[in-house]
Amino acid sequence: MIVAERKPLNEVRNLINGYNKILTVGCGTCVAVCLAGGEKEVGILNAELKLAGKMEKKPVETGGVTVERQCDMEFLDEIENLVEQYDALISLACGAGVQFLAERFPDKPVFPGVDTAFIGANRDVGWYEEKCRGCGSCFLGMTGGICPVTMCAKSLFNGPCGGTNQGNCEISNEQPCAWYMIYERLSKQNRLDSILEICPPTDWRNTTPRTLVQPAYKGRKAAR
Ligand code: SF4
Ligand code: SF4
Repeated sequence: MIVAERKPLNEVRNLINGYNKILTVGCGTCVAVCLAGGEKEVGILNAELKLAGKMEKKPVETGGVTVERQCDMEFLDEIENLVEQYDALISLACGAGVQFLAERFPDKPVFPGVDTAFIGANRDVGWYEEKCRGCGSCFLGMTGGICPVTMCAKSLFNGPCGGTNQGNCEISNEQPCAWYMIYERLSKQNRLDSILEICPPTDWRNTTPRTLVQPAYKGRKAAR
C-alpha cells in the first residue's frame, strides 16, 4: 500500500489561509489503512482546524467526506454537488489522489493534507516499512524477495559493496546490509548462484511519469 503521514496542523492552516469554507476529502483505501487519511482522520483534522480557528478568532467552516478511492474518477463524480458548496478542498489522499481531485475539480484550489511517504507494508499496528520504490524493473526474483533498491543504501543491483560490516550496512550499525540479507536468504534456498549473476545497467523507467495499460485494455485506451 501507499503509506502517508498527516501534515502538521500549522502547515495545513497556512495552505488554506484565506479560504473560509473547506471540504476535507478522505480516501478509504491505502491512507485509511495507514491511519493518515481515512474517515476518522478527516474528522480529527476538521476538529483541529475548527478549534485553532476559534482560538485565533479566524473561524473556518469545515465539511468532510471520504470516498472509496481518490485515484479513481468514478468515485470523485459522487461528490460533485458537495464540492460546489466549498471554497477549497483538502485532500487526505496520496499524491495521486490529490492530483486526480485537482484534475476533476479544476476550479477549486486543492491542498494536500498528508505527505506521501512510500510504498510499504504493515509491520504492526501503526508501524509501516518501505518495501518498494516502483523502479519499473522488479528484481525480486533474483534476490530472494528482498528489494535492493529500497533496502540497500546505495540501491545496488549488484552487491554487496565493500562496506558491509558483520551483517550491517556501513551507514549505520542499526541498518542491516540488504545484500547480506539477500545472501542469507538465497543460501537457505540453495540459490546462491543467483547472487553471482551480473545485473546489467537498468533502463530507469521512473524518470518520467509512467503509464501502465493492462493488455486486455489497450484497445479501449487506443479508442479514446
Ligand atoms: S526491485 Fe524493488 S523497487 Fe523495483 S519493483 Fe521490485 S520491489 Fe519495487
Ligand atoms: S553495505 Fe550493504 S546495504 Fe549498505 S550500501 Fe553496501 S551493499 Fe548496500
